[in-house]
Amino acid sequence: RSGFVSIIGRPNVGKSTLLNQILGEKIVITSDKPQTTRNRIQGIHNLPGAQIVFIDTPGIHHARSRLNKFMVEEALSSIREVDLVMLLVEANRAPGDQEREIAGLLPGVNVPVFLVVNKIDLIDPDILAERLTAYAELFPFREVVPVSAETGENVERLVEVVRDTL
Ligand code: GDP
Ligand code: MG
Repeated sequence: RSGFVSIIGRPNVGKSTLLNQILGEKIVITSDKPQTTRNRIQGIHNLPGAQIVFIDTPGIHHARSRLNKFMVEEALSSIREVDLVMLLVEANRAPGDQEREIAGLLPGVNVPVFLVVNKIDLIDPDILAERLTAYAELFPFREVVPVSAETGENVERLVEVVRDTL
């Protein structure tokens, strides 16, 4: 199995941290400042019998400047060129207008879309259960997977589910 996977979501949800965690080495610059990732960064993950190319993207948000518009366009164009899309959201934040807006872009995507609920290290399990349900209502996601990109919790499982879906 092999394929391309795009990681999309608002700025600061942890897209670059997740890519680093998956690849097991620090190749992407992460930061608490939004817009640290300015173009698409790819990382190849080799598993027995599978090669998956993960594409980190700049965050999707309302862009005013030319550079920011370019970055949003980069993120959006990547979802039309891949085999699977992972929409990353934050467990410590309820779905709001920005999440709904990004979910609104998904009906045109004709590949499986995973919802990855990141930063589960920051909240209680009860709240997590509620959040998973609230986010799952935004779109008929193929899979909903909670992770912590920072601690690595459940990231291996996520990669396995991606592999089995490709
Ligand atoms: P991006 O803009 O989506 O690429 O986000 P980054 O990967 O640059 O991460 C934004 C901030 O969130 C950084 O300060 C990260 O350390 C932090 N972060 C990312 N993932 C997690 C996580 O699972 N748990 C916690 N607590 N912080 C995280
Ligand atoms: Mg980034």
